[in-house]
Amino acid sequence: MVLRVGVVGGGQLARMMIAPATEIGVEIRVLAEDEGMSAALAATAVGDYHDAETVLAFARDVDVITFDHEHVPQDVLRALVGAGIAVHPGPDALLFAQDKLQMRARLQELGMPQPEWAAVSDVTELQDFIDAHGGRAVVKTPRGGYDGKGVRVVSSGVEAEDWFSSLAEDARGGALLAEELVDFSRELAQQVARRPSGEVRAYPVVETVQRDGVCAEVIAPAPHTGDRLQTVAAQIGVGIAEGLGVTGMLAVELFETTDERVLVNELAMRPHNSGHWSQDGAVTSQFEQHLRAVLDLPLGDAEPTAPWSVMINILGGPAEGGLDERFANAMAQHPSAKIHTYGKAPRPGRKVGHVNVVGEDLDEVAYQARAAAGLFGG
Ligand code: ADP
Repeated sequence: MVLRVGVVGGGQLARMMIAPATEIGVEIRVLAEDEGMSAALAATAVGDYHDAETVLAFARDVDVITFDHEHVPQDVLRALVGAGIAVHPGPDALLFAQDKLQMRARLQELGMPQPEWAAVSDVTELQDFIDAHGGRAVVKTPRGGYDGKGVRVVSSGVEAEDWFSSLAEDARGGALLAEELVDFSRELAQQVARRPSGEVRAYPVVETVQRDGVCAEVIAPAPHTGDRLQTVAAQIGVGIAEGLGVTGMLAVELFETTDERVLVNELAMRPHNSGHWSQDGAVTSQFEQHLRAVLDLPLGDAEPTAPWSVMINILGGPAEGGLDERFANAMAQHPSAKIHTYGKAPRPGRKVGHVNVVGEDLDEVAYQARAAAGLFGG
């Protein structure tokens, strides 16, 4: 019998599960927020993922529910589990990808290395934290942030006053997350796949480069990475996957500090931008691995197939740009580049695709990837 996966969310991550689903003979259905989204190539229902009835109806004839994003509310997730539907990752794990305060508290219990942090509920508490951490701190909204929205570097408590007042308006009350401003030398990401029956596979740790809070570039494996760092990163990834009971793909964003420590920044429990390289540079891509993991099928090798892979995001430029023409141009000029498109209308700063190049020589691989992506403007 053909297994069926239901993906909540119609973005590019759901879209990129479609090809591997076809390859491994799995049927994929998508619950999209709107018509015509990235994943509309698959059988798609349109509906509001905040509504338990809508999601339950969608889930009725699939074997497992998984996600393109982390925003499905806990009560909807719990309604699914209560109705006997397999949900991977499950609500107990997803909570720690939804709420950065919960994540910090749980990672502390697990003994994971992380920046110094505190929950702060007003300007004075934030000011005290800033004073105790060298006059600057990073303040984050615990929920709903992405691509750097919901993250501010502050040197005074009043700089987050607007966030505190909206917390007060929100009937749930709550607090903001304050973190020490980490003096990192670079950002890394560690991906791990884990299936419900417990098998885990760690991908090589990669370097991620952020511009304006958005992932711009990924190099896999992370260059200049000794055995110790690779082992530590993999142990952190596997430790978190097991400790939180994550099922499917887990991405752990890490800071490597100037004094050679590795600290956990945040978690994503789904395929992640830091793993797009694996589509063309690993034995098993993160998208196929996620499907295998959530269906509790045996996992594939997470080894690279070439010494180096470089992934560059394509950010949409001015709306009038003819993307199709640019894709054809990039294909013509850079035949070694694999160009992935998301079927999204270009808007400034919006991720509309990415380029992967793999090969033996990092300089050449990076040059080809950057030059191909550069043809898109951005
Ligand atoms: P988002 O959920 O929006 O991706 P993150 O928590 O990952 O937010 O933060 C976005 C970026 O801000 C990080 O990639 C990093 O560059 C920077 N950043 C976040 N936390 C810290 C910190 N404690 N110290 C220094 N830089 C940070």
